[in-house]
Amino acid sequence: MGVMTEPHTRAPQPAERLIAGRGTPDAEWQAWGGLASLPPVTVAELVPAYRRAVIIAPHPDDEVLACGGLLQQLHAQGTQTILVAATNGTSSHPGSAHLTPSDLARLRPQESAAALQTLGLAPQVLRARLIDGQVRASMEHLHTLLIQLLRPGDVVFVTWRQDGHPDHEACGLAASLAARACRATLIEMPVWSWHWAAPGDRRVPWHRACRLDLSAEELQRKQQAIQCFQTQLNDDPSTGQQAILPPHVLARLLHPYEIYFT
Ligand SMILES: [Zn+2]
Repeated sequence: MGVMTEPHTRAPQPAERLIAGRGTPDAEWQAWGGLASLPPVTVAELVPAYRRAVIIAPHPDDEVLACGGLLQQLHAQGTQTILVAATNGTSSHPGSAHLTPSDLARLRPQESAAALQTLGLAPQVLRARLIDGQVRASMEHLHTLLIQLLRPGDVVFVTWRQDGHPDHEACGLAASLAARACRATLIEMPVWSWHWAAPGDRRVPWHRACRLDLSAEELQRKQQAIQCFQTQLNDDPSTGQQAILPPHVLARLLHPYEIYFT
């Protein structure tokens, strides 16, 4: 099917976008200053009045990590917002006796709901229930769901097609094809890119990047919302696996602005 065929691209190979080790320290991003000087954009420019916003989260936490500030601003301007949860995040603790896949299937959507409530939101949520880690194999299912959901003029926010995590990339690709078919606007969000990329990295589409500034209060609420993702914030004593979202990862995602590729 067409949905499985990746369009021609000069993008780097997945091996170059590895999410391993500690990644690029936040201090390097901060010292660079390039992010803070990207062109500013307002929420009304991203999602004009009377358009719907559709947020696609590969895992329950990406909606807050990538765009917890944007969600608050959308709510404040009265934008109808729909969250598409691609997976329930059941593969975050392989082999764990502490958090089994069925625990995670129950807990992670609850964490997402609590986080959204902390942001003052209760958006409509569509759960695609794709297998965590294998979104690429179910891209047709996600594509079909999006084709049924999207209307012309909708603004779709999704993890960047080159973000590094295979599920993030598969969601980005499925959403880009569905948005094009439905004449919706596509906006991509880097999440794991801050880990493998470096300041000024030529693999990042800086020419498409813009900066949405957050107020101190919005940033604080985003930080509080992230505290709801307890399964991701703690080490797993049963396997010795470290937290998925340790402080050095969160630091890269808690700037007083969010970056969007338009
Ligand atoms: Zn994710």
